[in-house]
This record gives sequence, structure tokens and C-alpha cells, in this order.
Amino acid sequence: MTELLDGKALALQIKDEIANEVRQMTQEGHRAPHLAAVIVGSDGASMTYVANKEKSSHEVGFTSSVYRMAESTTEKQLLETIDFLNNDPDIDGFIVQLPLPKHIDEQKVINAISAEKDVDGFTPVNIGRMVLGEDCFTPATPMGICTLLKRYGIETAGKHCVVIGRSNIVGTPVANLLSRKGFDCTVTMCHSKTQNLKELTLQADILVVAIGKPEFVTGDMVKPGAVVVDVGIHRVEDATKKNGYRVIGDVKHSEVDPKCSWVTPVPGGVGPLTIVSLLQNTLKAYKRR
Ligand code: NAP
Repeated sequence: MTELLDGKALALQIKDEIANEVRQMTQEGHRAPHLAAVIVGSDGASMTYVANKEKSSHEVGFTSSVYRMAESTTEKQLLETIDFLNNDPDIDGFIVQLPLPKHIDEQKVINAISAEKDVDGFTPVNIGRMVLGEDCFTPATPMGICTLLKRYGIETAGKHCVVIGRSNIVGTPVANLLSRKGFDCTVTMCHSKTQNLKELTLQADILVVAIGKPEFVTGDMVKPGAVVVDVGIHRVEDATKKNGYRVIGDVKHSEVDPKCSWVTPVPGGVGPLTIVSLLQNTLKAYKRR
């Protein structure tokens, strides 16, 4: 029987835990943790993500601020804002919502974020610490995937985990984390140049899909009894929905779900845990200070 790795329910539970901790701290007279977000331009999906992060921050009792900047913002102006946030003693952590407009060098912007406030875990310092197994801010989506596997008691030691995708924000860090002591998976990382992808995915005890292609993974690519984690998020038009769209993943769930032992739904799987990881990292940044 297929069981759901229910990210929505788990996120609620962890948010409750964070909210209790924050309540206790504020009752003792401490200030609340403060998470800030910077968004440049008005991309619909990015605005939704930032709004969700702001809502979740309030739900757990954090202070939240959003810096909304015009699409025409120059790289220099953005770097000045980052410098301001790096030095603002009231802010514990902040994120810069990606993607940025094409005229801005994304890596240059990430590099400018102070590692101590980098609650998205994207800076070279935090990535380096993660690879070395040192204390760090772990990138939010991979951290969320690890939390899902851990809290649902999924057996990982010695399992063959196949990760499709090698992006800096999902594929590469999740492959690293799952191969480390504690998870102890044997990891195969696949990308667009991988040959015989299906041969590899059919060997996966745990299949993590972060390819960015709607419903790419079909039933014939999955071993019976596998654990499947679908990281993909895509909006597709759907006239039957009030908002005119529905959200699908990188996995064709109608075919894949019946074959799995455990599977993350889309929506309501990895997404809610990504936001929770950001809150956990912010709480950690607050406590460090
Ligand atoms: P990305 O930067 O576009 O990376 C996609 C990866 O897939 C690349 O490494 C690419 O290989 C690989 N790939 C492309 N075609 C392939 C093929 N035919 N066979 C094997 N590998 C292939 O995407 P991302 O930022 O990692 O995001 C992946 C998905 O997750 C997207 O749908 C995104 O919206 C979603 N996402 C969700 C969350 C969440 O919170 N749930 C967070 C972040 C992202 P190359 O490196 O060779 O190009």
C-alpha cells in the first residue's frame, strides 16, 4: 500500500513546535526572531512564495519584513540593500528570492549575503560547511526533504538513492546530505547528460526528482516499493479551478503513486517543508546571536 509523505501535516506540526518555543522566549522578555525577504520584480510565482514565507513567519510569531524592489533595480542598488540587511542588528536572517532579473548577477548577489544571516544556505561559506559536515545553514529544500525522510522514519542506511537533477539549490546538496553519515545512502546523481536514465531510476530504493520538467518521471521508471520524493512545482492552466491553474510536479503521480511504498504529493509534499526549514534556520540564526 502506498503511503503519503504528508509535508503539509508535518509542516503544521513543526510550525507548532517553533511557535511554542518563540512564545516561551517572548514571554521571558526576549524579542522575537526576525526574518526578512528581498524580492526584485513582480514574478507571480516568486510573489506567492514570498507571501507564503511571510504568512508562515507570522504564524510562528516571528517578525517579518519584505523589501519589494522594482524590476529595474540595478545590481548596485540590490547589493546596497544586502549590505544594509547584513548590518541591521534587528534582522536575524534574510533571503533574496530567486530568480533575479537577467541584468543582475545572481551568484554575485548570493556571495554578498553574510553567511551568518544566510538562512537559505546558498552562500559558498554555508555550502562549504555543509560539505565538510560542519554546523551550517542547510539549503532549505534539501533540508526539508531530509526532515520528511527522518520524521517519517524512512529507512535510508545502505539504500540506493537516485537524485535526478544537480542544481546548486536542490540536486547537489540533497545528494550530498543523503550520502553523509546519519542517512548513509549510496547516492547516484543524474543530470541532462546521464545515459540510460531509466536503467538507473529503476534501481532506486529512494528516488528524488528535481528536474524541473512536468510529469517527467513515469510509472515505468520506478521500482515497485520505492520511496519517491517529487520536488517539482509547475503551474498548469486548469479552467475547472477557481484560480485558473493547478499545481503539478516532476512526477506523473497517476502512474507512479500505485508503485511506491511512500510518495510526496504535489502540492503538499516538499514545498511546505522548504518554508519550515527556512523558519528553523532563522530560529537557529536568532539563537546564535
Ligand atoms: P534546475 O536548476 O532547472 O535543475 C534541473 C536539473 O535537472 C539540472 O541539473 C538538469 O541537468 C537536470 N535535467 C534536465 N533535464 C534532464 C534530463 N532529461 N535527464 C536528467 N536530468 C535532467 O531546477 P531546480 O532549481 O533544481 O528545481 C527543480 C524543480 O524543483 C523545479 O520544478 C522547481 O520549481 C522545483 N523546486 C521546488 C522547490 C520546493 O520547495 N518544492 C524548491 C526549489 C525548486 P543539467 O545540470 O545537466 O542541466
